[in-house]
Amino acid sequence: MLAVQAARDGRPEVERPRMVLPTTVHAAFHKAAHYFGVEAVFVPVGADFRADVAATIAAIDEAPERTVLVVGSAPSYAHGVVDPITELAAAAQERGIRFHVDACIGGWVLPYAARLGRDVPAWTFAVEGVTSISVDLHKYGYAPKGTSLLLYRDAELRRPQYFAAADWPGYTMLNSTMQSTKSGGPLAGAWAVVNTLGDEGYQRLADDVFATVDAIVAGLADVPALSLLAVPDSSLIGLVTDETCDPFTVCDEMASRDWYVQPQMSYGEHPANIHLSVSAATLAHVPEFLQALTQSVEAAVAAGPVVVDPGVVDFIAALDPAALTEADFDGLLAASGLVGESASGDLALPERMAEVNALLDLAPPRLRESLLIAFLDRLSRPVVSV
Ligand SMILES: *Cc1c(COP(=O)(O)O)cnc(C)c1O
Repeated sequence: MLAVQAARDGRPEVERPRMVLPTTVHAAFHKAAHYFGVEAVFVPVGADFRADVAATIAAIDEAPERTVLVVGSAPSYAHGVVDPITELAAAAQERGIRFHVDACIGGWVLPYAARLGRDVPAWTFAVEGVTSISVDLHKYGYAPKGTSLLLYRDAELRRPQYFAAADWPGYTMLNSTMQSTKSGGPLAGAWAVVNTLGDEGYQRLADDVFATVDAIVAGLADVPALSLLAVPDSSLIGLVTDETCDPFTVCDEMASRDWYVQPQMSYGEHPANIHLSVSAATLAHVPEFLQALTQSVEAAVAAGPVVVDPGVVDFIAALDPAALTEADFDGLLAASGLVGESASGDLALPERMAEVNALLDLAPPRLRESLLIAFLDRLSRPVVSV
């Protein structure tokens, strides 16, 4: 968010700022575009799920004077691969445009992966043209939620991020981030964790993370219905199923065995899949994990791929998310199985999510967003009637 805001405000003369992003960029950039009024130009990625350099350059050159930011991921959340940062950053630099590396996930593990001798694509400030990098402390820094770093190549690039307001009768407000009044708790927690673990501690944790990644990848050989979405560049693994089962049912089966794995919906031509964010804590449990995965896939194959009622499919296809009423949402939420009513009259969540996920997977992204916002809204109403 701040990288986008700083890029926008670093170019105050640009009236309609835009930024060029691979479609695999984290949803936080959709949010930043929405909040800060920066047009987001999305560029489809290549077959390897990495940003397409030529297509990115073409997108920049459609309006280079209005382009305030280009972004690459190290790695991308959904596929776990690192974009071609060197080429992207060079293209941005040639045109005098900021280039941000989203290393929220990779920032705290890739340096240790490199020390382990693993193949790590270039992504740091050593790459010419990289102007900022984000690194989440609350991921592989193992720190409390809400702690993250935004690093700039120099202080001048950072300046537009800072905000002061003296033109009112109170104190001069002076903020380094969007938050104004800020709790010291997460910061103190992060300081304590980082200092306690230290460089050696993080190296040990990264050793464990990558031993886990390798063991899971190797273990997939024994689960024929599953394969890698992409060879992981970091600590994220995407798994796709063959036609004998579906990823949503596998996720439910894993949950019933006390393993939470994340379903990812299909996106354009990218198939629905199972996402694993591997942490050091899993190393001791890899055999159990692989056993649960094998059993879950067997159960999912036995159940067969989840099917959505054709009537519901048609109903969804006919909906215009921009024109839905409250009553439509209530009907849809009930039809989707997302909400039911418990005996006490409270909102009840379904135990198995495969049918719900399969249905959401059919909904175009805008409709899925509207539906889930309606769901969130119902969750925060005192009385539920569906
Ligand atoms: C987690 C993450 C972010 C930021 O996520 P928030 O939860 O919205 O703060 C950004 N990029 C990537 C790749 C991430 O994994």
